[in-house]
Amino acid sequence: MAGTLWVIATPIGNLEDLSPRARTVLAAVDAVLAEDTRRTRALLASVGIERPLLSLHEHNERKRSNEALARLQGGESLALVSDAGTPLISDPGFRLVRAAREVGVPVRPVPGPSAAIVALSVAGIPCERFCFEGFLPAAPIRRKARLSELAHETRTMVFFEAPQRIEAMLEDAMAVFGERRRACLARELCKLHETLLGPDLLAIAERLRLDPEQRLGEMTLVVAGLDEPEPRAMAEGKRLYRLLATELPPARAAKLAASFTGLPRACFYGGDGDGD
Ligand code: SAM
Repeated sequence: MAGTLWVIATPIGNLEDLSPRARTVLAAVDAVLAEDTRRTRALLASVGIERPLLSLHEHNERKRSNEALARLQGGESLALVSDAGTPLISDPGFRLVRAAREVGVPVRPVPGPSAAIVALSVAGIPCERFCFEGFLPAAPIRRKARLSELAHETRTMVFFEAPQRIEAMLEDAMAVFGERRRACLARELCKLHETLLGPDLLAIAERLRLDPEQRLGEMTLVVAGLDEPEPRAMAEGKRLYRLLATELPPARAAKLAASFTGLPRACFYGGDGDGD
C-alpha cells in the first residue's frame, strides 16, 4: 500500500496559527519535505516535534520529487510544507503533487493560512470573484506587459510583491488601473507590524514614499477589478478624449481624459479600442 502525501499549510507570521491537526500529522509522518529545512526544523521544535527532514525547493524539485515518490510508493507517509503558508501557492511542490496523483498515491490536504486569502479577508475589497496573480515578472518591461493584460480585468486581483520592487510596481499599476483604483497593501500579516494600507493605489504609493518603514517586510497587494463603466460615462469620456487628442499626443490626451473622468487610461488609449 502506498503511503500518503500530506500537503500541510504552516503559519505566515504567528506560530499559534499552526493547526492542531497539522501538529498531529507532522508528528506522525515518516519524513517532512521542506523548502528550507532549518526553518521547518525550528517550526517543528517550537511545538516539540522532531522528524527527519528532506529539502524540496525550486532547484532540486524534480530530483527530490522522484525520490519522494519512490518512498511514498514504498509505503512511507510524507508531509510537504513550505516556509510559510500553503505549499504550491507561489511555492514548490506542484511536480510532486501531480506525480503522486498520477500514480495513485493518496494526496491529502491539511489546510491553513495562505497570504493571498488572508489579505483578501481583511482588504475590504469585493472578493466574490478574484484572480490570484502571484508575483509579477521582475523585469520592468515584462511587468508592465503583464499588468496591461489585466487592464480590463473586472475581478479583484491579488499580487505578491517583494519590498524592493513594490514602489515600481505601484507606479506601473497606477499607469494601467488609474491612481484612484481601490487597493489594499497588506503588510506583515499576522506579525507584530501588521499594517493594511489603502484605500487606493495613490494613497498607498504616497504612504510608502513618506514612510520608509512601510516599504519593508512581506507584502500582498489586493487591487479591485475594473467597475464596468456606465455606457453613458464611457461615451462621454471617449468624446472628451477625441477632443483632447486633436490638440495633444494620444497618450497625453488619454491621461487627461482618465484623470477628468476617473475611468482607466486604457479605456481611451493603449487598451483594445484606442479611442474609438
Ligand atoms: N505559499 C505562501 C502562502 O500561501 O502564503 C506564499 C509564498 S510566496 C513565496 C511569499 C509571498 O507571500 C511574500 O513575498 C509576500 O508577497 C506574501 N506573504 C507571505 N507572508 C506574508 C505576510 N505575513 N504578510 C503579507 N504578505 C505575505
